[in-house]
Amino acid sequence: MIDLHSHTNESDGTCSPAQLIEEAVRAGVTTLGITDHDTFKGYDTALGAARDAGITLICGIELSTKLHGESVHLLGYFFGAGALEGFRTWILDLQAARRDRNIRLVARLRELGFDMTLEEAEARGRGMTGRPHFAQIMLEKGYVKTYREAFDEYLDESAKGYVYRREPQFAEGVERIRRAGGIASLAHPVRVKGDVPAMMPELCSAGMNAIEAYHSDHENGDTERYLGLARRYGLLVTGGSDFHGVVKPGVTLGRGAGNLAIPPDLVERLRAQRTQ
Ligand code: AMP
Ligand code: ZN
Ligand code: FE
Ligand code: FE
Repeated sequence: MIDLHSHTNESDGTCSPAQLIEEAVRAGVTTLGITDHDTFKGYDTALGAARDAGITLICGIELSTKLHGESVHLLGYFFGAGALEGFRTWILDLQAARRDRNIRLVARLRELGFDMTLEEAEARGRGMTGRPHFAQIMLEKGYVKTYREAFDEYLDESAKGYVYRREPQFAEGVERIRRAGGIASLAHPVRVKGDVPAMMPELCSAGMNAIEAYHSDHENGDTERYLGLARRYGLLVTGGSDFHGVVKPGVTLGRGAGNLAIPPDLVERLRAQRTQ
């Protein structure tokens, strides 16, 4: 089985890279893409364990980008030698922007009356501390009853605790991925705010060359609709569970929410088209 979208605790997943490989073995996943947010550390760390377990590991990344002010997630897949050095340097900027945001976010949350510190969040998220870690703290301290409530009331873009983070524009993300030898895939298109079919010409002219047709959030007909768009615009197809471990219960590697059926030849097709 194939799964090209997963997260370790080097970003906001709960499994260490080695534990993620154990999960893959348990789930029967033989080709695994690690797509942590803004970092390759999980992928780099998992390589040895994957080799020992006989799992083919695909080097990936997930970037949060902006398109007309809305958040759009973008996946990058680097077959062969992995991402080129320039890209690895560029993501250090993204990590710095995240840390700057976290400093302002903790100040805002304290202003709203929550007793928490940056150190507490970084103890959970380390280099890739993000809003999910702040949500966990709010939950543990009883400030909210659910993770959902933490986002809806305080952390979501429309909520009162939200603070701005400098993020690359969609076109820049695509260009960086492509220049580094990667395939740029529109992540979980069902979550994009706006009319995806109408946006396709713009996305494709930015250089996006794949779409994540298979994803845990896709329901009846979604996958077929995105496969149709892929055919129409000549895009490659990617797919994965977006496994995050215990913070997203109900999602397992390879099978997602039980709805995933990623075709076995998907990775061969990507490899055949790889740009490096
Ligand atoms: P950050 O990268 O720190 O800005 O946090 C973004 C992450 O928070 C996303 O990748 C999601 O996992 C999670 N997230 C963002 N918005 C929401 C939301 N409204 N509800 C639940 N999780 C969210
Ligand atoms: Zn995530
Ligand atoms: Fe995402
Ligand atoms: Fe993801």
